[in-house]
Amino acid sequence: MSMVPPRMSLDDHAIMPITTRPPLIMDRGAGSWLFDDQGRRYLDLVQGWAVNCLGHAPAAIRDALTVQAGRLLNASPAFHTAPHLKLATRLAAACGLDHVFFTNSGAEANEGAIKLARKWGTLHRQGAYRIVTLVDSFHGRTLATMSASGKAGWDRLFAPLMPGFTKVPVNDLTAIRAELAHGDVVAVMLEPIQGEAGVVPISDGVLQGVRTLTQEADTLLILDEIQTGIGRTGRFLAREHAGVVPDIITLGKGLGGGVPIGALVASKAVSCFAAGDQGGTYNGNPLVCAAANAVLDVVLAPGFLERVEVAGARLRSGLEACSRLHGLGCVRGRGLLLALDLGRPHATALVERARDLGLLINAPRPHLLRFMPALTISDDEIDTALVLIHQTISSLGGFP
Ligand SMILES: *Cc1c(COP(=O)(O)O)cnc(C)c1O
Repeated sequence: MSMVPPRMSLDDHAIMPITTRPPLIMDRGAGSWLFDDQGRRYLDLVQGWAVNCLGHAPAAIRDALTVQAGRLLNASPAFHTAPHLKLATRLAAACGLDHVFFTNSGAEANEGAIKLARKWGTLHRQGAYRIVTLVDSFHGRTLATMSASGKAGWDRLFAPLMPGFTKVPVNDLTAIRAELAHGDVVAVMLEPIQGEAGVVPISDGVLQGVRTLTQEADTLLILDEIQTGIGRTGRFLAREHAGVVPDIITLGKGLGGGVPIGALVASKAVSCFAAGDQGGTYNGNPLVCAAANAVLDVVLAPGFLERVEVAGARLRSGLEACSRLHGLGCVRGRGLLLALDLGRPHATALVERARDLGLLINAPRPHLLRFMPALTISDDEIDTALVLIHQTISSLGGFP
């Protein structure tokens, strides 16, 4: 009898075709490794899109979920629970802010941030509601967060979008200053490093400049740290590199380590939802909060973030060596959110060949590879990944 279970057919299934998926069925994971139902293993540098910050099936999250599942899954949002109180206290402190609203996804956290900014504008800025965001930004897939996003083509998909968002170019303080001069802007919202755009960093100087400009204009600064937060860049939050404290921070992805939870974190001055303004059936349930508390136990432990920096430096220098060897473009990003610009539109072919060789990487743009491994990836696994990347490029015959 075979150890491998019989294969489910992929010819005719009931999944809506919202993306093209390879003909594989993923079955289990362990740390940096993902296994399909045929027993093939893949070194995973995607990790559920920067979600599994502790890798696949980490014991810390498994144990926390097991204990909490046997105790209390959901008390309803109308009650306090110990996991949500503990998590909120820790997140507020780590963000340098005061109040937390839990969500089920990143998009929902950004929705909440947009609502909070609009409410604050009604109360304190004579109804100002316009929010300035950046070209190529990604803030989620709800209608409001799609409207906030600067992704090309999204203004026509599911039209009409929600009004009240203005896009300015990345790293352009002059453009932001010009928008703020109109007096009807309630907030500037941006990602410290634009993830989906292809790991495009906002410089520390520009981030500091935006903070100064928004303060001078009595306007809120919303940082979307859904991809950059929870240790991804070698600090708990990417904003720490620039020493900037915004009014609102949104979190998601790594916060749950694979379990769906997001958070909207705000200063006391901005935290103006009244009872009944905001809510959600599953929001902040004790099960997901227990998982997030387990993630924070690991990520905030002494030495963890220093190790992320060391691992990030190792991956970066290996990618730079690979780029020199094969005549490719630059490496950018911070910590373990890195991208290699290929200088040519071969990223999709590379992703597919890499998968055949047992390596999972991501191509957010046709010319760009993105790397967002588990924050717990070992030096040996980084070196193995670099060998596989080199083999992938070589097996395609290098590049013309
Ligand atoms: C992934 C992501 C989101 C959306 O999060 P979901 O959980 O997919 O809704 C929003 N902003 C940024 C920067 C992201 O990377």
